[in-house]
Amino acid sequence: MPGFELWSDVERKHLNDVVQSGVLMRYGFDGNRNGHWKAKELEAAINNYYGCKYSQLVSSGTAALSTAMSALGIGYGDEVICPSFTFVASFEAIVSVGAVPVLVDVDDTLTLDPAAVKAAITPKTKCIMPVHMCGSMADMDALQAICKEHNLILLEDACQAIGGTYKGKKLGTIGDAGTFSFDYVKTMTCGEGGVVMTNREDVYISSDGYSDHGHDHLGADRGADLHPFIGYNFRISELHAAVGLAQISRLDDFLTIQKRNHAALKTILSQIPEISFRRIPDADGDSCSFVCWFLPTAAATQAVVDELKAQGILAGNFYWFNNNWHYIRKWDHLKNAVTLNALSPELKEKVMYHANKDFSASDAILSRCICTAISLTWTDELLKEKGDQIAAIVKKVLSNVAVTA
Ligand SMILES: *Cc1c(COP(=O)(O)O)cnc(C)c1O
Repeated sequence: MPGFELWSDVERKHLNDVVQSGVLMRYGFDGNRNGHWKAKELEAAINNYYGCKYSQLVSSGTAALSTAMSALGIGYGDEVICPSFTFVASFEAIVSVGAVPVLVDVDDTLTLDPAAVKAAITPKTKCIMPVHMCGSMADMDALQAICKEHNLILLEDACQAIGGTYKGKKLGTIGDAGTFSFDYVKTMTCGEGGVVMTNREDVYISSDGYSDHGHDHLGADRGADLHPFIGYNFRISELHAAVGLAQISRLDDFLTIQKRNHAALKTILSQIPEISFRRIPDADGDSCSFVCWFLPTAAATQAVVDELKAQGILAGNFYWFNNNWHYIRKWDHLKNAVTLNALSPELKEKVMYHANKDFSASDAILSRCICTAISLTWTDELLKEKGDQIAAIVKKVLSNVAVTA
């Protein structure tokens, strides 16, 4: 899954360019930087690789979501529909701009259920934010149709789907804007970093200013720039961009290995008839960072997880249903609206609404799902050994009628 697994001399070379010049900042200092503009070059490489018109690098995927929402004019009173299964960053970013997160059920794609989205639309809904979880995509045709019908913004959280596509288009470039995270464990890493991608010039210009204190970046003298609106500092550093520049040049290789290892593991698991797999709206577009598989019952799934743990091989197999960071069940801080600073009373009430909301449809999916992360460093032998171990555990558990009833 993550690019950090294949750290190489290419990353060292780009980093060394920056270390040699000592210009660690992306803006200015033209005379000292020996012609190296790592952030600018990475943005050009992103536009080229992913096929979007504009991209704005920032300091994290979370910052990219906050920046994109601000640039799209999402704020006070606006409702943003996002899934119950995602990383906490998705709702953090919504709350950070003062908007209301409206979490709805996922289906067997492990992403937004379009019917649940439709049912959640109110006159305050401004944006639908699908999250392409675990390398694969939401049903973008259905979501685009809903956005069109209700005149809503489509913002893709593609942080986990670097290199994935939907009907030939790269995930993250289909909506009004899309984001990637380049944190340490993502398919392509900068160490820390993120990007807003868009085909809309207005969204790009606003993202560019918002992530750098509102600078208009029009003149050669940074100190003389105007600030047409209030921004923040979500800048990426040249050191982080240098790592990303190396990683994007190697991304095709990462994805080739990922797809090969994914196919081999899936083949082994497919031999067990009781195992089914996540539905993928466009199978050719899976980035293949995880194999996500279902067992017939929650009890059987829990028993498999327990056995993986007992045998010391749970690492890399994610049971999101019981996970603190990725599923609403354990987000007590969200359900209790625990913040360090006061939220507006209306926002607080709407956030706390999630404490009693029915997520049984999501529970029914996630309680039976295990996602196995695909490593880029597996040898053929190791892969077969892992697959056979998991298969043996599943067979053992399924032979116990108590958990399959
Ligand atoms: C990683 C991730 C983010 C946030 O990225 P950071 O760079 O860690 O801030 C947002 N959404 C999803 C789905 C993620 O997996």
